Amino acid sequence: MAIRYLLFDLDETLYPRNAGVMEAIGRLIREYIVQQYGTTPDEADALARRYHLEYGTSMRGLLLNHDLEVERFLAYVHDFPLDLLQPNLELDALLARLPGEKVIFTNADRPHAERVLERLGIRSHFSRIIDVVASGYVPKPNLQAYTNCLRLLDAHPEQCVLIEDTGRNLAPAKQLGMTTVLVDGNLADPADYKIATILELGPVVEAIFAP
Ligand SMILES: [Mg+2]
Repeated sequence: MAIRYLLFDLDETLYPRNAGVMEAIGRLIREYIVQQYGTTPDEADALARRYHLEYGTSMRGLLLNHDLEVERFLAYVHDFPLDLLQPNLELDALLARLPGEKVIFTNADRPHAERVLERLGIRSHFSRIIDVVASGYVPKPNLQAYTNCLRLLDAHPEQCVLIEDTGRNLAPAKQLGMTTVLVDGNLADPADYKIATILELGPVVEAIFAP
């Protein structure tokens, strides 16, 4: 079955880790837990870590184990300036050259994805954003997140390439039959292709699309 979709993770895949975006989100998640549930900062940190490990994201753990106004939570943890992200002209040109329909598949919410893509100057390349809300609040690496994504796209896994910085989020994609690309990830994690930055994606996509 021919490849048709390039599914891009958003955070730390389309921009480098040192942009500090995930640190800011992590800080706000802990702040929210302290304020909402009256924990100490240390307890909030332990809870956020444990839920991230067990459920894919802290959000999912809070949703399943606590009283959580999930939309308020998502707005709160993504409310900070994206000053460190700059327009990436090289990435813009690369995305323009790549074949296939480009889709964002993220554990964040749509407003955050829109803001990041605008800051990077690459919004126009993506036909769709499948966020954790569209995914029914089920994040990667839960298998259901991927089957939800495929259903929304009306796609078969064999038509999809998942491009991700987090190795554990590639495993279910591979299991379903997607092609996987690890970007600046842990080299011990399995993937069909591994690249150091998103700017190295060109030759990989060429190889994947080659007959
Ligand atoms: Mg990521």
